[in-house]
Order: sequence, then structure tokens, then C-alpha cells
Amino acid sequence: MKKVNMKTCKICVMNESVKEFKLDSNNVCNFCLEWEKNKKIYLNFDAETEKNNLNKIKNKILKLKKNKYDCVVGLSGGVDSSYVVYLLWKMNLNPIIIHMDNGWNSKTSNSNISKILEKTKFDFKTLILNWNEFKDLQKSFLKANVPDIELTTDHAIFAYIINYALKNKIKYIISGVNFATEHSVIPSWGWRKDDFNHINAIHKTYGTVKLKSYPKMNPFKKIFYEKIIKRIQIINLLDFVNYKTSEAKNILKREFDWENYGSKHHESFFTKFFQGYILPKKFNIDKRILHLSCLIRNNEISREKALDELKMPNLDTQKINEYKNYFKKKLSLSDKEFEDMMSSQPKNHSDYSLDLFNNFIFKNISFILKKIL
Ligand SMILES: [Zn+2]
Repeated sequence: MKKVNMKTCKICVMNESVKEFKLDSNNVCNFCLEWEKNKKIYLNFDAETEKNNLNKIKNKILKLKKNKYDCVVGLSGGVDSSYVVYLLWKMNLNPIIIHMDNGWNSKTSNSNISKILEKTKFDFKTLILNWNEFKDLQKSFLKANVPDIELTTDHAIFAYIINYALKNKIKYIISGVNFATEHSVIPSWGWRKDDFNHINAIHKTYGTVKLKSYPKMNPFKKIFYEKIIKRIQIINLLDFVNYKTSEAKNILKREFDWENYGSKHHESFFTKFFQGYILPKKFNIDKRILHLSCLIRNNEISREKALDELKMPNLDTQKINEYKNYFKKKLSLSDKEFEDMMSSQPKNHSDYSLDLFNNFIFKNISFILKKIL
């Protein structure tokens, strides 16, 4: 249940509903302190530095080119990935764009994607997830009572892009992940995106359909190709420019007639309903406090404005029933199944599998190295 008068950071809007939240004696939270430590590395490039950064990246990419495409990039139609594609276009690079359809895309995101592709004339591939498999996977995550169901979408596109790059000998993968607006990671809210073993552990318990075509990746494979034999390299392009979402949105609107879709990641109906209804009601997780806090630290919104926004309902209250019905119908969930899911006790991802890479291999490698050195 939501507590009234929760302790809140005096700089951002993070509060004690987050398990990892801590306040120091000045009432500043651990996420703000972490940001202060790291921001010098990533932020406030002047225009000249920004230009140099992008030039260096371009030269690096072109130097090792083996395919007609310079790099691979995923495009969701949201602001971060759209802005990455805009930058690549401005840099005169020739990426192959991967777009995924998981069955839930909104009209706005699809139209944003079409407008961007039409103007840039970049080649693209659409990965259409097998709906029967993906529906079964999403339902199994709902039944498992874990908070990071988006993992099923994130993993698919991530795995597909890496596998595509490897198969086509394209070394560079350009990502929209960025420090400026996504710098806080809250471990209790999610799980690493490259771990199919975890997805499989949950699906084996609750799923009914075999995952034949769903893209798969595991941390060992990714680390092997990325760090050991260096066949692929992931570049978080937005970390090399002075990234502000508000400015990026204006540029995208001007260049592509790109449309805003409301809150962060609301480019899909699933995300909108999951983050706006299921997460706050069942898990007491309000992702807006994380997104708004990042924007406050990045000087894009004032704390007062963020607090005002948090007073607003997560979803349009008039439409909740309509949304709920659509969600149940699309996932073929009966009223009882939906209500049972909503009232079941939340679980942690770690209840289903160990993070083998972090918990076992990493510790053992460190242990062995300590013995040798
Ligand atoms: Zn804070």
C-alpha cells in the first residue's frame, strides 16, 4: 500500500517506495549523488566537442566497414531511438534500421517510423514477433508476478540486433541508451536484458507454447563477441552529444514531423497500460518518479513541475476500463485470470533464476584472478 508522507529527496522526486533509495544527512538521495559523480564524464559538451565526438565515431565506423551497411540500429519510434537515427543521417552514415513489431505498437510510433524512413531513405528490416509465442511469453511473465515484463520485448530486439550484426559482419551497433535521461538503474525493478536463460526459466514454469522463433541471447555469448573477440561493439551515441529530450523532440518534429506520444516509453499500448496501471497498483512502482528525476537532474524540468505531474493520475481515469478490456481481450485473459494476477503477491526476478553472470562467473573469475596475481 502507498505510504503517505514518504521520505523524498530534496533535489529529485525519488522516494522511499524504491527499495534501493537512501538519503544522506542533507536529504539528498543516493541516485543524485551517483549522478554528481558521473555527470562530468558524459554531459555538457560544447558544440565543438560534440562535432569532434561524432566525427571520431564516424571515422572509427568507416575504418572497419565490411558490409554495405555501416552499422545496425533499432528504431522504436520513441524519442531516443528516433534521435539516434537522426544523428546517423546527419553524419552521412548508412545504417540498416531494425524495427520490431511485437503486436502492441501504437499508431503514433508506427507513423513516426514511417516518416523517418521516408525522409532518410535508410534501408530497414521489420522483425515481426510470432504473436502466439509472444503472447504466451507475456502471459507467463504476468503469471510469474515479476515487475519487468518489458524484458520480453527488450530482449527480443536486443538479441535480434546482435545476431543480425554477427551474421552480416557489421561491427557497430548504435544504441539509444543514454546517461542523460536514463542514468539510474534500479535493480529490484528489472533484470539484465541479455539473459534468455532467465526468460526461459519463467516461461518453462508458466508458458504453454514453444518459443521457436523468439530471438535469443545470453550474457556469455554477448561478452564473448563484444569483449573477447571484439566482433561487435555497442556505441551509446547519445552519450557523445549534449542530449536533452525536449530539444531532441523539437528537432524531430521539425525534420520529420515526428509526433510526441506522451510519457516516456508510452510508444506502445502495453507499456502505457503496464506502467500506468499494473506496476503502480500491484507492485507499488511508479516509473514516473525515475524518469522525472532524470529530467530534473538533466535540467529539463523543475522539481515543482515534476511534483505537479506526479499528482496527476498515471492514466486517464475515464479510460481505465476501456484500456483494461482491451488488454484482457488482446492477451485472451479472462476477468478472473486478470483479477487473480492483480491480487497475487509480487515476486522478485531473482526468485526464478540466479544472475549467473554477475553472481557466479564474475565472482569466480575475480577469485581466480586474485589467486593468480
Ligand atoms: Zn535525488
